[in-house]
Amino acid sequence: MSDCIFCRIAAGEIPAKKLYEDEHVLAFHDINPVAPVHFLVIPKLHVPSMAELGPEHVEVMGRVMTTAARLARENGCGEGFRTIINTGRVGRQEVYHLHVHVLGGPEVLPAML
Ligand code: IMP
Repeated sequence: MSDCIFCRIAAGEIPAKKLYEDEHVLAFHDINPVAPVHFLVIPKLHVPSMAELGPEHVEVMGRVMTTAARLARENGCGEGFRTIINTGRVGRQEVYHLHVHVLGGPEVLPAML
């Protein structure tokens, strides 16, 4: 059994509020939302972080990003949203399975950068 929590969610071993799933990609609500809309999009393939991406991941990451955009449109982020990929210790990554945060809602988000 994998000790990666997101692999376990993808395998159905741990429950999650899923928004979308296909053979390659899974999207689910963040368990600790920091915006009215806050979900995560992951490749089902275990890639620990963005730092490990290579040419072999072009297709699946295209699927991840286009899924994020479509789900944002379909879930109340028609006027915009923020995407975040935390990477490694310096990037404050907590779960080492590559994931894209999608944050949004009806109001303008707090400034970050
Ligand atoms: P990051 O690794 O710092 O980008 O953040 C990991 C994110 O995963 C956090 O926002 C957590 O709230 C979220 N998270 C951790 N465990 C679960 C879970 O079991 N279900 C949904 N979200 C989770």
